Amino acid sequence: SRARWVVGNWKMNGSIAANEALLAAVRELPRIGANVGVCAPYVYLPQAVQALDKSAVVVGAQDLSAHAASGAFTGEVSGAMLAEVGVRQVIVGHSERRQYHGETDEIVAAKALAALGAGLVPIVCVGETLVERDADQAFEVVNRQLGAVMAALGERINEVLVAYEPVWAIGTGRTASPEQAQEVHASIRAKLGSAGAVVPVLYGGSVKASNASSIFAMSDVDGGLIGGASLVAGDFAAIVAAL
Ligand code: 13P
Repeated sequence: SRARWVVGNWKMNGSIAANEALLAAVRELPRIGANVGVCAPYVYLPQAVQALDKSAVVVGAQDLSAHAASGAFTGEVSGAMLAEVGVRQVIVGHSERRQYHGETDEIVAAKALAALGAGLVPIVCVGETLVERDADQAFEVVNRQLGAVMAALGERINEVLVAYEPVWAIGTGRTASPEQAQEVHASIRAKLGSAGAVVPVLYGGSVKASNASSIFAMSDVDGGLIGGASLVAGDFAAIVAAL
């Protein structure tokens, strides 16, 4: 009874013209058993919401402020603002935010809580770096990252999506093997306890049309969070078809 998802993370890509064509194609992709989401840059969210109106595709943001109340936080966007323009899910804790913007486990946990408070579904990203994997710390790192969010959310952890994204597989063309993904996904499922029965755990990191089926076939993989391949309509469609 876990929902299956393919979610595109456009990262800092797109233009009004390019989005228009991509969104027109993405509109048609959801089907029974395959939920589809698109996480666009902030400025394009109203465009995405409008282009996907009356379709089953869910629009997401890539980040939000940890601050729930509006105020003097220059450059930040609150969950309430996202919800107001029709956004329904939001990525938190992406490794690019952790690496380039200093987001700690505590900040990520606060963002997940802020998302829920605004009525948004957080997509909680976890994953180890190559150095950590080589030091046999993958399970420990992922448990720590997820544990911080679980501590903040309590029983509401059953309302999130989790994405396992090994940092060494993001944008590198080097994907985790299905077995490598499965063993971390299984540990995430165990860590989630009873919520593991309902929380989808997506894999992210160099998912392509050519490797999606074998990764999605693993028993604890409930779909994917797709970067580069989500920008190409045909590639994204093939990945959704593989779910
Ligand atoms: P790529 O699919 O480009 O490797 O990116 C994965 C990712 O970071 C999705 O959030």
